[in-house]
Amino acid sequence: MSESRNRVPIIGVVRHRLAVDGQGVTTLVAFHGCTLRCRYCLNAQCLSVEGFSRTITPAELLNEVMIDNLYFLATGGGITFGGGEPAIRSKFIDAFCQMAPPEWHITLETALNVDRSHLERLLPHVHQYIIDIKDVDPEIYKRYTGLDNRRVLDNMQWLLGHDGMADRIMVRVPHIPDFNTDEDVRRTRDYLATLGITHIDEFTYQRRESSGES
Ligand code: SF4
Repeated sequence: MSESRNRVPIIGVVRHRLAVDGQGVTTLVAFHGCTLRCRYCLNAQCLSVEGFSRTITPAELLNEVMIDNLYFLATGGGITFGGGEPAIRSKFIDAFCQMAPPEWHITLETALNVDRSHLERLLPHVHQYIIDIKDVDPEIYKRYTGLDNRRVLDNMQWLLGHDGMADRIMVRVPHIPDFNTDEDVRRTRDYLATLGITHIDEFTYQRRESSGES
């Protein structure tokens, strides 16, 4: 894909995030657009049609984030791609990473509810995955996000089929007010344990009903 055609909408670029996501000093690149419609979405602007701040190409982004190259190299940091759902921008991320310094640590914050082809394209570039699993119970997941979670679980299994992958994955397991219970959360944790996942971040979503369009 030519550079000019690989132009995507973003919500924003946030510099100098320390130990928030990824490792070292990181810059968060938040893409517009998502496959899900979570009821308490904290980034509802990434779902509304006009919720993006600007559009950008891979070369333009690289030029912008290069200002922190020395910080990235000194701390083992790099770029965290979030959103929205960054995996659906896999062609953009692929082009960006092919141009970026190979030492940069690349983190993907994803809900994994995307076509496998995106994950295949991203696999050579991503060092760490932060996965927002919601809840493994299909009914709870569908009520909360509007979609089926079969693709999430299939993608998780596929990722874990790669050597050493469990150490590169951190799964966020939320308590979702009015949608799951402590028992449901325990079941999700138990399921992840059977997959060999040990890095788990259990937390509680803030109740913040998103609008119908999001
Ligand atoms: S996965 Fe859910 S919470 Fe995250 S951006 Fe998409 S709709 Fe919002």
